[in-house]
This record gives sequence, structure tokens and C-alpha cells, in this order.
Amino acid sequence: MKKTWNILYRGSLSSCNYACDYCPFAKTKNTRAELAKDRADLERFVAWVEGRSETIGILFTPWGEGLIRKYYQEAMTTLSHLPNVYRVAIQTNLSCPTRWMEKVNKESFALWTTYHPTEISREKFAAKCAQLDQMGIRYSVGFVGLKSQLNELSLLRQSLNPKVYLWVNAYKREPNYYTTEMIEEIEAIDPLFAYNNQYHPSKGEKCQAGHTTFTVDGSGNVRRCHFIKNKIGNIYQANFESNLYERNCSNVTCGCHIGYVHMDKLKLYEVYGKGVLERIPKKNVELRM
Ligand code: SF4
Ligand code: SF4
Repeated sequence: MKKTWNILYRGSLSSCNYACDYCPFAKTKNTRAELAKDRADLERFVAWVEGRSETIGILFTPWGEGLIRKYYQEAMTTLSHLPNVYRVAIQTNLSCPTRWMEKVNKESFALWTTYHPTEISREKFAAKCAQLDQMGIRYSVGFVGLKSQLNELSLLRQSLNPKVYLWVNAYKREPNYYTTEMIEEIEAIDPLFAYNNQYHPSKGEKCQAGHTTFTVDGSGNVRRCHFIKNKIGNIYQANFESNLYERNCSNVTCGCHIGYVHMDKLKLYEVYGKGVLERIPKKNVELRM
């Protein structure tokens, strides 16, 4: 049987057009030379995917914003049309224009969009989402659940297509940050919030990271996940896949969706199915069909 891999790609891009005050990439810029390198690395990665025989899902998790760069748009468009790519998705602030998405393969293309209330009005963000709906683009929407912005949650919900999944990333830097009432309020909108509002004990637990899912950087270096720094190979070296095998987590906890979703014990593949990379639960996928 053909193997399926879920790959998280993070190149050297490290710049963003937004200025969220909790983020190290706020209003940062890359030089032309840095962007040229990021582009060349990305193009090499696309060519590598094209040459593989495995079924591949890709989630781009850039430092900063990728889709304001034409070369990211082009890479995603190309990948979406490859017969061995079942999914290509990216984490984005959705500030880019959307017309280029008319050319993507809408079966495989998806977006993980994040609403940043200090950077764009709810009305403008929701209008962008409506454009995606009109074009038939699959996407999830979410935002960081800072207490100061929780009043946005129900307003955002009302502004969006009811079939679109709205997730909330828990603010976990302060323990016991939320009151019980706040948690109830959030869970009424994001029924999967409890998974995000904790650090899952992971040491010794089975995880697909390093086996059927792995991360790749701009040079092709492979790591199990974004949270374990040891390199386990390089995709541009022959037979790198011999380093992909079942193993347990070596970290104490795992607290991000892009990590814990691959832990066997949480059984979240059953919840998300083929929407696991762009964070769309099966229930919402079915609703949209
Ligand atoms: S949009 Fe994302 S990458 Fe950009 S500043 Fe805000 S949090 Fe950081
Ligand atoms: S549980 Fe999290 S930290 Fe551990 S291997 Fe899996 S993704 Fe990585």
C-alpha cells in the first residue's frame, strides 16, 4: 500500500506585514537576498514532492506571513495540482488577495486562517472569508483567546458562514488563565477547545511525528516535529526515509495543535480525518459537502 506522509514545512522566511504585539515577527522584513533564498528552497521542495511516490499532505507553518509572497502562492498552486498531494495548506493571516486561488485545485487546497483583531476589522476579515466561500475554498478560522479579545468571539462567529469551523487557541502562558464561565463560553463555539487548553503529558507516548509525519526546513533537514530539535535526516539525501519509524515522544508535554494532533492516545485523526492539517474537523467537512 502507498505510504501517506504529512509534512510540516517551515522555510527561512521570517517576516510579516502585521504587528501583533505578542509576536516576534511583527512588522519584520527580510532582505531581497533572504527572500530569494527562501524562494529557491521552496521551489526545490516542490520539485522534491513532485518526484515522490508517497501520498503527501503539506502544511506550511512559516515564521511570519507566506501568502503575501507570490512565490508561496505559486508553490501552493503547483502542489495542489500534483496527483500525489492529497492536501496543501498554510497558516495565514489572510491579508493576501484571493483571486490567485481561482487557479488552485480546490480538492486538495486549504487554508488555516487566523483572525488578528488588532490588525484588521472583523468586518473586513469576514468579507475575505466570504470571498473564500464564493470560490469554494476550504478553510478554518481561529484566533488567540486573549481575555481582552474574548468579546470578539461570538461576534466573529455570527459574521462567518455557520459551516466554517472556528477554533480558539488557548493562551497558556499564564496558568489557570480562564474562569469556568469563560471556558464554557469558548466551548460553546469551539467544542474542541479543551484539547488546546492544556499541555498534554507526552513523554513516552506514541506519536506519529518521526514516522508518518515530520517537519522539513528550507535546507531539507528533517525533524520529528517543530518541538524536538534533533535532526533525523535530510529529504535531499538518498534513503532518508529509513529514519522514519514508530517511536515515542521524548518531550515532557505537547501543547500545540500541530503537535498533539499526531499523538496516538488522543485519537484526533478520528476527529479531523483528512482535515487534520488545516484544522477542519470531519463534522465540518461533511457539513460543507
Ligand atoms: S499575523 Fe501572525 S506572524 Fe504576523 S505578526 Fe501576527 S501573529 Fe505574528
Ligand atoms: S507528542 Fe508533540 S512533541 Fe512529542 S513527538 Fe509528538 S508532536 Fe513532537
